[in-house]
Amino acid sequence: MNRKCMNTSFIIFITSFAAIVITLVILLMFNKSTISAMGGVDRVTDEDAFARQRKQMVEEQISRRGIIDKGILEAMEAVPRHLFIPEENRAYSYYDQPVPIGFGQTISQPYIVAFMTELLNAGKEDVVLEVGTGSGYQAAILARLVKQVYTIEIVEELGKEASKRLKEMGYDNVEVKIGDGYKGWSEHAPFGAIIVTAAAEHIPQPLIDQLKPGGRLVIPVGGVYEVQDLMLIAKDVSSKVIKESVIPVRFVPLIRK
Ligand code: SAH
Repeated sequence: MNRKCMNTSFIIFITSFAAIVITLVILLMFNKSTISAMGGVDRVTDEDAFARQRKQMVEEQISRRGIIDKGILEAMEAVPRHLFIPEENRAYSYYDQPVPIGFGQTISQPYIVAFMTELLNAGKEDVVLEVGTGSGYQAAILARLVKQVYTIEIVEELGKEASKRLKEMGYDNVEVKIGDGYKGWSEHAPFGAIIVTAAAEHIPQPLIDQLKPGGRLVIPVGGVYEVQDLMLIAKDVSSKVIKESVIPVRFVPLIRK
């Protein structure tokens, strides 16, 4: 091999090597920017892990305990519960327990959300009132099952945050109001169903009044920080009211101003 030929081979080798290195660098940069545009590697794997935990929650905590309504099971599997929980407690999102959401309040245990929803027996044509918006999670579950949800929260910060969160998630059939839910929401009454997610000392008469004939009210009744009775109040078609105690529960108190 003469000298000229060796030089040419060397140049070809160096150029190819440089081309490979440049290609690798470009590929690496592209991958990094795609991943970060998707929210980072952590976010992607977290979402997968949460989805798996949610599926497991539905199977083990809800379905296995006797909730059979397909719509409710689907809603519980679809709504990303962890997005309703402050970051510092997010790891507990799919645990079989209530979780603190700030201001001394909690998001209810998944099973209780499903159980109360089933008791309401509300359908696609119903307008439902919730007292105690909290994180907005119960409202999101209901929004997938009924026509319209009106929900009232007494702690302004929680109500505003829940309203923003529900809008961002696309729940446009939920309206949040800041105020005392004891009085109900007469402008939108009567309701096909009413759910109260804080414990009342007695059943608020305005809520019974704002229930449609044939409608149902589900409410924990009992003293503050005691075990309370989850009550089902049914108004029949002739407006006769029937009250039944269903299970013992433990809820944060309904605040009266
Ligand atoms: N349903 C909620 C959890 C409710 S915790 C969720 O899915 O996250 C009970 C909520 O009721 C708390 O946010 C509390 O601030 C609210 N609350 C208490 N008393 C109230 C009242 N009188 N009117 C409206 N909301 C009230």
